[in-house]
Amino acid sequence: MSSVVYADLWTRVQGSLVHSFGDQIYQSWLRFLKFQNVEDGRIVLSVPSRFLRDWIMTRYADQLLKLLRAEDSSILTMTLVVTEEESGVFTAIEGEKTEHDESLTTNLDVRYKFDNFVVGKPNELAYAAAQRVASADSVYFNPLFLYGGVGLGKTHLMHAIAWSIAENHKARKVLYMSAEQFMHRFVMALRHKDIMEFREQFRSVDVLMIDDVQFISGKDSTQEEFFHTFNALVDKKRQIVISADKSPSDLEGMQERIRSRLGWGLVADVHPTTYELRLGILQAKVEKLSIQVPNDVLEFLAYKITSNIRELEGALNRMVAQASLVGRDITLSETQLLLKDLLRANERYYTIEEIQKRVADHFHLRISDMHSTRRLRAVVRPRQMAMYLCKRLTTKSLPEIGRNFGGRDHTTVMHAVRAVEILKNDDPAFREDLEIVERGLNTVER
Ligand code: ADP
Ligand code: MG
Repeated sequence: MSSVVYADLWTRVQGSLVHSFGDQIYQSWLRFLKFQNVEDGRIVLSVPSRFLRDWIMTRYADQLLKLLRAEDSSILTMTLVVTEEESGVFTAIEGEKTEHDESLTTNLDVRYKFDNFVVGKPNELAYAAAQRVASADSVYFNPLFLYGGVGLGKTHLMHAIAWSIAENHKARKVLYMSAEQFMHRFVMALRHKDIMEFREQFRSVDVLMIDDVQFISGKDSTQEEFFHTFNALVDKKRQIVISADKSPSDLEGMQERIRSRLGWGLVADVHPTTYELRLGILQAKVEKLSIQVPNDVLEFLAYKITSNIRELEGALNRMVAQASLVGRDITLSETQLLLKDLLRANERYYTIEEIQKRVADHFHLRISDMHSTRRLRAVVRPRQMAMYLCKRLTTKSLPEIGRNFGGRDHTTVMHAVRAVEILKNDDPAFREDLEIVERGLNTVER
């Protein structure tokens, strides 16, 4: 198809965007989308900022792709790229001075409150610190620095702080924005020569939260301004909350004095999720939506979708949408079919060595015990477990697995797999060991 035809297609899709999302969402966000091109089944759209890209990707991408595909089924995937153009999208916060509450809520997601945040080992410190900031009248640590990988709940916690203060401490003025918005406002202030006013706005808040601060890495004048704002607020004993994808000391492209200053307060690491946390989040969501999803489906999703919580939610949403379409509960096998692509992206293969090490560590054995001919039960069982896991979690053939276990025969591996399957059912202690090892493998960062 020619680009003219695609431009035509895009015009039609814009019409259906308004239709399916409503005018308000379209005017606030989707109207900034511009058509770029289509190549090999991939449609490329652009937006004027990373903030918009992330916003649209997390909220509207699935539906958007569906609409595109309804117009042209040869479109398989969609990419949003960021162009450097100006946009009016930040007018809501540009007008912040007139009506503080309004600016606050336009910037916040109503779903991101403490009530909706599921606490587990990986995020308990960050959660406790966020709660402390939200409820305290004095500043205990400054800044609170939250860091961790994508989709693990940093933004959620920051919004939760803002909501909580807005609800319980109305007099306190909170300002939340992404580092990108900070930069945007700074650049606009420079352009309109009202930098004094810009500074004034920031320096009058009780709590300042800047999300994804890594974004200003390498941007020197913005960093400079950020640092001054930061220091001015610290001097006045105002609370600062920062998030980033890395720890302060790992923020490359950030001036050394800023990096070190960012680490002075409380640095809370949001760790990769565990199986328990993922399952807890799914259960909480299901409960909230008052829908029925069989437990084995939830367990399956929690087990398989390990990358981040955003994807996990996406998977659940797809299941729920499907269930409501077909009008019945979703089954495990339907789930597997429906989420094939997502599951493949989350599929991970381990090396035989990784598995052997994990098992050996768990049972306090040496890796050499995996290869040895020792026939002690305390060695044989773990060795069988490792073979079983290699069969399940690697793409290696039985003979190959056997060779990696001290040159054993493929029938030995087969026997091990069967033995483990039986033990799994008959021996609770063994099953527990197996689960711990599997989860351990599952939480290894990718
Ligand atoms: P980050 O800012 O770390 O990239 P987000 O805060 O945007 O991640 O979280 C991604 C999604 O996962 C959001 O929809 C958020 O509500 C959800 N989420 C993250 N952590 C939790 C949690 N502990 N409990 C419930 N939902 C969570
Ligand atoms: Mg975030």
